Amino acid sequence: MGSFSLLSAAARRLEGKVALITGGSSGIGESTARLFSKHGAKVVIADIQDELGHSVCEDLNPQSTSFVHCDVTKETDVENAVNHAVSKYGKLDIMYNNAGIAGVPKPNILDNTKAEFEQVVSVNLVGAFLGTKHAARVMIPAKKGSIINTASVCSTIGGVATHGYTSSKHGLVGLMRNTAVELGQFGIRVNCVSPYVVVTPLAKDFLKLDDDGVNRVYSNLKGVIPQPEDIAEAVLYLGSDESKYVSGHNIVIDGGFTIVNIGLC
Ligand code: NAD
Repeated sequence: MGSFSLLSAAARRLEGKVALITGGSSGIGESTARLFSKHGAKVVIADIQDELGHSVCEDLNPQSTSFVHCDVTKETDVENAVNHAVSKYGKLDIMYNNAGIAGVPKPNILDNTKAEFEQVVSVNLVGAFLGTKHAARVMIPAKKGSIINTASVCSTIGGVATHGYTSSKHGLVGLMRNTAVELGQFGIRVNCVSPYVVVTPLAKDFLKLDDDGVNRVYSNLKGVIPQPEDIAEAVLYLGSDESKYVSGHNIVIDGGFTIVNIGLC
């Protein structure tokens, strides 16, 4: 079982639940897979990084964790990932649409190509649409479920990331709100988590950060270096029954970044 150990039965918040995590081979998705497993969930990791995903599963409990290759931009892959979770573990309780890319950093719209813009929107927004659609396909008959999307602080403000990224994350909140309204009648909750910078391969590549470099861009809440685990804890809450009355929300996890960096004074 590697470095992973289960909590006592009383402390396990996802006992008996089945979760599918896109982008679960690395970063926030990987941390969430680890935390979900610790809390007793059966976890399917769906990602394009097969080797990394398999090694996360092996490090956790291979009986209750499995990997499926899935490019979230391809509907057949997403459909297959959902079917894999249901055939292996009998149901799907939690769909975590987390896979995402940052795009090529070009602040000037004149330098942005249509293909670059579409690629980011395709992974970050269309991928979450497909995940939500196929999760709903199996959650509606079950009359329950929690769908969670990783948006970003870029879903609430502009000027921080690429045009494709900011547009896709704003769009993702719109998708979340629409589907929360539609799927509530079936007992299905839909929410987003919106991190500011946490040190993951995506953030390191995009912002050229070293492990401590997040300190340079993160200044409001002193003494806290945000880690993927800090986002995973919020996803755990949204996946658990403790949030059974929470739907249609975008939980911004930014240590106060967005309250001090917008406005004119
Ligand atoms: P990461 O690069 O560590 O993880 C992203 C994962 O998504 C990788 O495992 C990657 O293989 C996978 N992925 C990429 N394209 C895919 C595709 N087409 N199909 C399936 N999987 C695919 O980065 P991360 O920081 O953990 O990012 C996770 C999510 O968090 C993303 O949606 C990102 O936009 C969001 N986010 C990250 C930060 C941050 O600072 N790290 C801040 C805000 C939002």
